[in-house]
Amino acid sequence: MGKTYQIIDHKYEVIVIGAGGAGLRATLGMAESGLKTACITKVFPTRSHTVAAQGGISAALGNMSEDHWEWHMYDTVKGADWLGDQDAIEYMCREAVPSIIELEHYGMPFSRTEDGKIYQRPFGGHMRNFGEAPVQRACAAADRTGHAMLHTLYQQALKYNAEFYIEYFALDLIISTDGICEGVVAWNLDDGTIHVFRAHLIVLATGGYGRSYFSCTSAHTCTGDGNAMIARAGLPLQDLEFVQFHPTGIYGSGCLITEGARGEGGYLTNSEGERFMERYAPTARDLASRDIVSRSMTMEIRDKRGVGPESDHIFLHLEHLGAEVLNNRLPGITESAKIFAGIDCTKEPIPVIPTVHYNMGGIPTNYMTEVLKPNPGNPDEVASGLMAVGECSAASVHGANRLGTNSLLDLVVFGRAAGIQAKKLVKPGEPLRPYRKGCTDVALDRLDRLRNANGSTKTSELRLSMQRAMQNNAAVFRTSEVLTEGIKNIDEVWRGLADIQLSDRSMIWNSDLVESLELENLMINAKITMYSAEARKESRGAHAHEDFPDRNDKDWMKHTLGWINENGEVKIGYRPVHTHTLTNEVDYIEPKERIY
Ligand SMILES: Cc1cc2nc3c(=O)[nH]c(=O)nc-3n(C[C@H](O)[C@H](O)[C@H](O)COP(=O)(O)OP(=O)(O)OC[C@H]3O[C@@H](n4cnc5c(N)ncnc54)[C@H](O)[C@@H]3O)c2cc1C
Repeated sequence: MGKTYQIIDHKYEVIVIGAGGAGLRATLGMAESGLKTACITKVFPTRSHTVAAQGGISAALGNMSEDHWEWHMYDTVKGADWLGDQDAIEYMCREAVPSIIELEHYGMPFSRTEDGKIYQRPFGGHMRNFGEAPVQRACAAADRTGHAMLHTLYQQALKYNAEFYIEYFALDLIISTDGICEGVVAWNLDDGTIHVFRAHLIVLATGGYGRSYFSCTSAHTCTGDGNAMIARAGLPLQDLEFVQFHPTGIYGSGCLITEGARGEGGYLTNSEGERFMERYAPTARDLASRDIVSRSMTMEIRDKRGVGPESDHIFLHLEHLGAEVLNNRLPGITESAKIFAGIDCTKEPIPVIPTVHYNMGGIPTNYMTEVLKPNPGNPDEVASGLMAVGECSAASVHGANRLGTNSLLDLVVFGRAAGIQAKKLVKPGEPLRPYRKGCTDVALDRLDRLRNANGSTKTSELRLSMQRAMQNNAAVFRTSEVLTEGIKNIDEVWRGLADIQLSDRSMIWNSDLVESLELENLMINAKITMYSAEARKESRGAHAHEDFPDRNDKDWMKHTLGWINENGEVKIGYRPVHTHTLTNEVDYIEPKERIY
């Protein structure tokens, strides 16, 4: 017997789920255009993971030297290893410029040049004149760009009277029998009440799912809830096999250690004290590209030369650089090592591990952020009443590999596009469909099932098994054998969901229940990631397959689609990559070898 809930009904024109950069930009745009808008978020808006972004946000402003959005577009298509949709990439790079100026006018405190323009710094993969030499394209607010952006957008959203439901956990979408999204069921974490939010449009802006891996740079809240809601609604997730790894996250916490640490002379060693990068990349050694270093570290760990009691990580040495260099050039890293690894890096090495940093894949959308429900007759058909923006979405501008600073850009450009499109789709004042009795059943049955879960496995134990399976078998470096084993392992972990036990059922709600809901969501993302990776028999961007080391455009220049049913059975399909641009101002950029 399920618990009886008091259900509180809310009516809006648009509901945005998520208050990171993407959710806030969408909320602000909707409210500004006069639509009655609410934003639901499980954490306080300015605690969303966007707050951790440091480096910058790209746009061809040309403040430091000549730059053009067409150059930015070329870099993004190439960075994405030709898996991106070029109409969406054209839209993003062109709209980058007005979107950044708009942020400036909203009051975002960018760093400035001597003559008062927005300061821009160089970043990986951003080049002048179609790959000629680096260009300064990343607009920055010191090393706190995400922080500055999030606070600016939150203030603007409040100015336009958007309503916020803070610490409300969205459980599931309400989908009618004719396939129209009518709303969302959410659980107020403060008092345990259940809320039905009905609207013409639901916008998912729930962020990535980095936490399905053992080590990631993302916040604990990055659990892919929106992706899972879409999957439970019977819709596919796209390109989940493309997961970006950074070589040096701190072991255990995942906190990022910048590449600059190796730039200053830091180096990696295995359990034998060997500087193993010399074997893998004799010239560049520890400063080889991110995917090569991450792959080499993983090979050492798999060959039982990892360090630590579990032989599952690597050492990063900075101690030979001396306290003066560290304090002057890497003060932030010295502090992070102390706080997150408990070590003094002037005296001992930092334990590091290739760390999940970003999910290129997600909910497939068109360039106006409408969610796709691809079918053989029409791969670009849209689902009614649903939009997705930010890291949870795949427009697809990042394709197989994202360029640094293109994510913050994605948030504001497509958050803004959602507002523009909503204005066309929703007529203010139009009545909503009537409240349907039983519309909360799916969401509440799941809540009840978990609340009463009486098995013998702790949520935290099962989560760890999932994270280890993903870290070991869907990592930077993949083979058919490792991926086949990965499917076996993740299937076994999935079966463990039936044996979950919640530690304290005497309370109305507890963090175990939230974590169990999040674990189910993570598991859906993990399963589809593993199956999608196993299916893709080529190497492209972040998917480096040892048995198929080359990119194969003839057979594989297509987006993966992954569906999952309630028994955890995954079905894989594909949809074509868009090989057209949006306007005739630019031509389609033909695939070629990706050399930097
Ligand atoms: C350490 C770090 C540094 C980075 N640096 C950069 C950089 O310099 N430049 C760059 O371009 N990119 C950077 N990135 C990537 C970029 O920051 C992220 O991709 C981006 O911020 C994601 O924004 P988002 O709005 O999609 O999601 P998030 O900021 O993750 O926000 C998700 C929101 O969804 C809400 N939510 C989730 N699930 C639910 C639910 N079930 N119910 C209710 N609410 C829910 C959360 O409360 C939150 O408000 C970095 C990422 C990391 C981790």
